[in-house]
Amino acid sequence: MVFEYAPAPESPSVVNFASSYGLFIDGEFVDGSGSPMKTINPATEEVLAEVATASADDVDRAVTAARRAFEGPWGKMSGAERSKYIFRIARLLAERSREFAVAETLNNGKPIRESRDVDIPTAAAHFFYYAGWADKLEYAGYGPSPRPHGVAGQIIPWNFPLLMLAWKIAPALATGNTVVLKPSETTPLTALLFADLLQQAELPPGVVNIVTGAGETGAAIAGHEGIDKIAFTGSTEVGRTIARQIAGTRKVATLELGGKAANIVFDDAPIDQTVEGIVNGIFFNQGQVCCAGSRLLVQESVHDEVVERLQQRLQMLRVGDPMDKNTDVGAINSEKQLARITELVAAGEAEGATSWQPECELPLNGFWHRPTVFTGVSQSHRIAQEEIFGPVLSVLTFRTPAEAAAKANNTPYGLSAGIWTEKGSRILWMADQLKAGVVWANTFNKFDPTSPFGGYKESGYGREGGRHGLAPYLKGEQR
Ligand code: NDP
Repeated sequence: MVFEYAPAPESPSVVNFASSYGLFIDGEFVDGSGSPMKTINPATEEVLAEVATASADDVDRAVTAARRAFEGPWGKMSGAERSKYIFRIARLLAERSREFAVAETLNNGKPIRESRDVDIPTAAAHFFYYAGWADKLEYAGYGPSPRPHGVAGQIIPWNFPLLMLAWKIAPALATGNTVVLKPSETTPLTALLFADLLQQAELPPGVVNIVTGAGETGAAIAGHEGIDKIAFTGSTEVGRTIARQIAGTRKVATLELGGKAANIVFDDAPIDQTVEGIVNGIFFNQGQVCCAGSRLLVQESVHDEVVERLQQRLQMLRVGDPMDKNTDVGAINSEKQLARITELVAAGEAEGATSWQPECELPLNGFWHRPTVFTGVSQSHRIAQEEIFGPVLSVLTFRTPAEAAAKANNTPYGLSAGIWTEKGSRILWMADQLKAGVVWANTFNKFDPTSPFGGYKESGYGREGGRHGLAPYLKGEQR
């Protein structure tokens, strides 16, 4: 049964957005030379602020400031001193977590429950974790005196704006690099609040520079000859463009790209927990997650029971206002992303799969998509092969563990996978077969700063998080 809940809205007044933002270069907000962009709330289409666009000249100023800081105070500072700054950033983020959570939800469309309980605390945890490494680098297993590359160019997407920023900036600072970071054009606001936080932390000017803009600004960072290292998270297509752009240069790169994860359910899996795991795997953050469990592989004998229980559970999801603390599924991040989801859902129907959606009312303004489950999906369908990046689950079946492994690996991607079974030996056997950077057993979408994350095949290369996440920022340890 579904209980009626009274609305429990979080207050938007917790955050004060400026009406316009400049670029954060050399410790100050400065004007950008491109035409300003408006950034909106995707749940209402209301304009939240105007944001500067960085031209190639602005990127050059940012890289010059980052180089100066690298050759100046930051490069000369001991790891123990760097660590104090990173701890200070972590503490300020924890102190201002409510403000950042509200800002993230307003600009991204994700439920406040997620930004409050996952995005912001995990972002702070990354800074706490890497602060601890800054004075212990010589014990990290990368030689007696590991050295930073210099200036890191970092380009991040819109699905976890602050968390991706933390994944990039925390290890870069811990290892002694300086940074020029570009947030996505649809979600720049928490990165700009973070710039304000850096002023509060009194981080030396130029150590972190934040330049806003669209794809051209990202291309100007990747192409700038003063950049030593690129860290990119986003689509496989743009990842390929960047890899081509830097081929033959001294730049090293880590690329964290798309995924099409298999979430594999065996007939002995505990059904209630499994259904929760399936829901968390694909409807968390509206399915806009590179490691989302978007392909459900269910053992044939339990297919009908799992699908029926899943549908019952989906009827209880609350879809709507992301600022309501009861909401489970919020808005899609942009009109462009909604169009992509709608196009792939139509392709699934045209190719003969059967779609099912729970009944729910969607708000009139903003970008919304109902949770969707496709059954009768075959391996060749586009919805089984392409990354949808939305709240859409494709259900396939298998009979034996070997068939499950073969089907799970039948994708150009290899980022993550899930296994649901009560047999430990089967978990270990399956995990060994799966070509995926992260394999979750009887859980899904669990993130921890101490644990490395990254892909195989077209999901990219390099690892972020954990001790492994230091390596891409150290000379001679490119991955
Ligand atoms: P993109 O790969 O286009 O965007 C990621 C980042 O790269 C953004 O900051 C973007 O800027 C920037 N960028 C765009 N073009 C270039 C370029 N030529 N050189 C350097 N940087 C560039 O992802 P989209 O937002 O367009 O999403 C498209 C698809 O990508 C999604 O449907 C999804 O499948 C996948 N995706 C995967 C993600 C993941 O976590 N692995 C994250 C996001 C998307 P801007 O936003 O300003 O255009």
